[in-house]
Amino acid sequence: MMPALNSINSTRLQHRIQTLAEIGRKPDGGIYRMALSPADLEARAWLGNEITTAGLELHTDLAANISARWRSDLPSTVMSGSHLDSVPGAGHLDGALGVLTALECVQRIKELDLPLKHGLEAIAFTDEEGRFGGMLGSQALTGQLSPGVVLSARALDGETLVEAMAKAGFDAQQMPLAERDPLTLHAFVEMHIEQGPVLDSINCPIGIVQAITGLFKWEVTLEGESNHAGTTPMEMRRDAFQGVVDFAGQLQRILDEYGTRNSRATIGKLQLFPGAANVVPGKAVFTLEVRDTDPAILAQLADAYQRSLFAVARQHDLVKHVAVLSELPPAPCSEQVVATIRQQAGAMGLAHHTMPSGAAHDCQMLTQVTQAGMIFVPSKGGKSHSPHEWTAFKDIEAGANLLLNTLISLAS
Ligand SMILES: [Zn+2]
Repeated sequence: MMPALNSINSTRLQHRIQTLAEIGRKPDGGIYRMALSPADLEARAWLGNEITTAGLELHTDLAANISARWRSDLPSTVMSGSHLDSVPGAGHLDGALGVLTALECVQRIKELDLPLKHGLEAIAFTDEEGRFGGMLGSQALTGQLSPGVVLSARALDGETLVEAMAKAGFDAQQMPLAERDPLTLHAFVEMHIEQGPVLDSINCPIGIVQAITGLFKWEVTLEGESNHAGTTPMEMRRDAFQGVVDFAGQLQRILDEYGTRNSRATIGKLQLFPGAANVVPGKAVFTLEVRDTDPAILAQLADAYQRSLFAVARQHDLVKHVAVLSELPPAPCSEQVVATIRQQAGAMGLAHHTMPSGAAHDCQMLTQVTQAGMIFVPSKGGKSHSPHEWTAFKDIEAGANLLLNTLISLAS
């Protein structure tokens, strides 16, 4: 017999979403709740108060992650959550939705007083969005935050992580000590807005994430020779920009040949030197960022782009140099968690779509230490990191109910 399906308290969730959306909001409509800023500290204090008022155990760890715990007497926990911090000018759902739905689910499970094998924990991770580097709280909790990173982290406004943590009442040097014993983590599920247009375009309320994409980011320099734009004949030029153009023309072909439906390639920044209308550009510097969910595919794409750069450099008599700015491996979600989410969605009669996450999330850190997965809800028009970020409440409610039944299934 299928166990009975449970539901969240929608009014309570909606009220919390609206209340949190006002913390850090500026007249332009955007939310400015950057990690450990005054607005973030206000949101953290508000969340702590919501947790204790709900009769849940408030727990703050050495990385300043804030949790609501239920049945912490049990040896391991099913965790759910996301982040309260935002980018400058953000919308009201990125991160916040995952924290507030997790809190609502844990509170609801307490009210339902269900028999449990595992405890529950709703968590808000510190600095997901990167004021000090990004995903610091989830890195610390999963043992992936190095003391060196902690000591050198500094915001664009000049404040160091050490200073910001001290203002919040923490010792930054102790952040790596927030590491949990993986045996105490039974599973992790993060609910998040999709931040892309796929679910909205197919009119589907639920996305089940199969993997979070990895990426590599290069800074490519092509060097030729700067020269007079009038006196240098076309065939005698070493024009770095012509090399960029030829390479950019290969971006899609290489994806078609070596990539998958999940592959993405982007040249997001380009500078030409010396940068004058009447000078042949002797140097071009540009970024190449490539993403996929499969490490083997990413490696093939890296190879193919290197070969293509080699070919255009030879063709235009340029010298190429590739600096690797970052490499992040793809993070596959747990098949068991994916199956549990899918099963619960089926039992609830919810249409769902299995998809990759093109954006990075705290969940990818958790995939390293426990069985982890994600539930997406649609972003209207695919908009995020903007005040126009919006999801219909009926979709939020469906996602939250799916999260509730998923957490119950994992904890029972
Ligand atoms: Zn987020």
